[in-house]
Amino acid sequence: MEIRFCGAARTVTGSCHLLTLDDGYKILFDCGLYQGRDEEFEDFNANWMFDPGDIDCMVLSHAHIDHCGRIPRLVKDGYKREIICTSATRDLAAVMLIDSAKIQESDAYYQNRRSKKKGLPASAKPLYTNEDACDSLQSFVGISYGAWHFIRPGLSVILKDSGHIFGSASVTLRIERQGEEPLYLGFSGDIGRPDRPILKDPQPMEELDYLICESTYGGERHNQLPQDVEDLLTVIRETCIENGGKLLIPAFSVGRTQELVHTLDKLENEGRLPQVPVYVDSPMAVNATEVFRLHPECFDREIMDYMLDDPNPFRFNDLKYIRRTDESKELNYLQGPAIIISASGMMTGGRIIHHLYNHIEDPKNTILIVGFCAPHTLGARIRRGDKKIRIFGQELRVRAKVKIMDSYSAHGDEPEMLEYLSSLSRDKLKRIFLVHGNIDRQEKFRSALDKEGFQDIQIPELGDKYELD
Ligand SMILES: [Zn+2]
Repeated sequence: MEIRFCGAARTVTGSCHLLTLDDGYKILFDCGLYQGRDEEFEDFNANWMFDPGDIDCMVLSHAHIDHCGRIPRLVKDGYKREIICTSATRDLAAVMLIDSAKIQESDAYYQNRRSKKKGLPASAKPLYTNEDACDSLQSFVGISYGAWHFIRPGLSVILKDSGHIFGSASVTLRIERQGEEPLYLGFSGDIGRPDRPILKDPQPMEELDYLICESTYGGERHNQLPQDVEDLLTVIRETCIENGGKLLIPAFSVGRTQELVHTLDKLENEGRLPQVPVYVDSPMAVNATEVFRLHPECFDREIMDYMLDDPNPFRFNDLKYIRRTDESKELNYLQGPAIIISASGMMTGGRIIHHLYNHIEDPKNTILIVGFCAPHTLGARIRRGDKKIRIFGQELRVRAKVKIMDSYSAHGDEPEMLEYLSSLSRDKLKRIFLVHGNIDRQEKFRSALDKEGFQDIQIPELGDKYELD
């Protein structure tokens, strides 16, 4: 049996790992898009380290694009079997992949337009189209949390709530072997956080022989939530009331946006939210919020109780959801203070780019960064304090204030990841592979795990293969 790391190796996007069983049966964990601009990964998304037609089964941990974003291409290039995930992930992935296809198509269109202007051939093709995305959705099979699902004789899978985003799961395979104890191989997916609004706490994984574990926030510690709500109120007051400016919050359309909206909804119900118009400018966020409402099985106790008094935890009077492009453009001419929540979270594309373009040079405004930004993204440059950035080929000065609130992160910090893994037997667990992290954080996390008594912690590079026995 062999595991090969085909993505998210010493980096945080492009999650993809391939397990080959003794008889050659191949199982793919995730099939994510690489989202940064690192030249080293320029060809990553269009090329495979395996033949998609050879894969026998795929399990998807959650609907973030860096975990599912290459599925339409995988199917287009020959993958014909099932994609197993939770029902909520299936529905969210439908929203995410159709949006992703739109971005791929428009990127190719604009690239070709630029080429034509320079007299070069227009050869850019989208990674996949809307039609490819729709086709791939036929392969998805939604299953429930917490029950063993039969894949083939001697092979089953269990998905457990990982508390990271709506529908997210850790994946454990049970592999029966003749004359031996079954082998348990786990993939953490992305590890969430306890006590989050909306989501359940991460559920512990089964006892494991091998673990593929994320490591995004190795060596880091987040702020705690109560502080966060007060910090958010302070930023709103300073930006919108004292300075009369606009508060731009780049946020993932799925998860972060609903968390923010729900927090604002609560503050509004408590009479603490200043009267400022709030815009959620992202058609995908609107669609994703509808998916949330269809899957109450993913809600935690707290939001269920909250909904007894307020049946719609994602809507309040001063809030407007914006789908149409012309309405989004109208926001460019909006006078006075406002809160604009828009995607993408890492500022790699989407409507937030237009809002940044229009507002980043005005010191009255604030950009509030509420999530992780992969290196080489515009978000990472703004986050690290660059004073000059480029948008639409134009150099802009960053004069708006930049605030960071990492506690909105959907990823557990180091103590939370250690707590999540604490129930695993150190004796049974033979080896841990750290993925989905930058190398400096992975090394920190490795020494933390080492101190906790875990053995043989590997940090694979892209393409590395390991024999498992
Ligand atoms: Zn994720």
